[in-house]
Amino acid sequence: MSLSLEGKTCLVTGGSRGIGKAIALKLADFGADVAITYARSADAAEEVKAEIEKKGCKAKAIQADAVSFERAEEVLAEIVDDWGKIDVIVNNAGITKDNLILRMSEEQWDDVITTNLKSVFNYSKAAAKPMMRNRGGSIINISSVVGISGNAGQSNYSASKAGIIGFTKSYAKELASRNIRANVVAPGYILTDMTDELNEKVLEGIKAETPLGRAGEADEVADAVVFLSSDMSSYITGEVLRVDGGMAM
Ligand code: NAP
Repeated sequence: MSLSLEGKTCLVTGGSRGIGKAIALKLADFGADVAITYARSADAAEEVKAEIEKKGCKAKAIQADAVSFERAEEVLAEIVDDWGKIDVIVNNAGITKDNLILRMSEEQWDDVITTNLKSVFNYSKAAAKPMMRNRGGSIINISSVVGISGNAGQSNYSASKAGIIGFTKSYAKELASRNIRANVVAPGYILTDMTDELNEKVLEGIKAETPLGRAGEADEVADAVVFLSSDMSSYITGEVLRVDGGMAM
């Protein structure tokens, strides 16, 4: 067994920036052809596509709101029509709309739950039939440590990320007999646009709560995703792999 992803076709939702971009580029470093989706950042997505192609791999940048069930079916159909199969899906697209419960609007709740959780259902469901035809596959869902521990001001986000863990374990049990594995990666505090807006005081608090004493890099999350995409993890399914510097231990 090896970490090589040569010959594998992968899809990363929300691959235009941050963790998704790092995952897409690293999958290509290990030889995979990679499609990414994005919501708004067309230029950034085209740059990621070009970087993947520069590494000698096939690439696609597809505009697709992860909330749309129909669009997920179309994206999977495009990949399978053009590249013949799908081996790996990384459900990474996600947003935050933080607020204390007393102040949280219905819209803030619904937006975060549909973008972060329904999207995982959309793409995991759309992948099931093609992966069954392919006699196997790997689904990797990006949750968060707050889906394990909870976080004041993030009830919507924490619920969506905890939901991903329950969904993934159920999916893993349903599809294990078809050689389809499903796992969760739960990052801690990672430096991206999403965490850019946190103030210094909050950041210092997060670092103090992290045994390794620092924020993580998107690239370190991507390392875990490569492992779960590869045949090196062939006997691992239904697992939650924290990449959090020990934060939620
Ligand atoms: P980010 O820098 O804000 O990037 C988010 C990505 O998701 C972008 O590519 C964005 O596309 C895409 N996206 C957002 N809404 C979408 C939609 N409706 N449809 C399709 N794509 C959409 O965030 P990040 O920090 O890289 O986070 C990536 C994932 O890791 C998220 O699921 C997040 O919850 C999770 N996570 C992050 C951290 C952290 O500390 N950063 C910690 C734990 C978990 P556009 O560029 O087109 O907007």
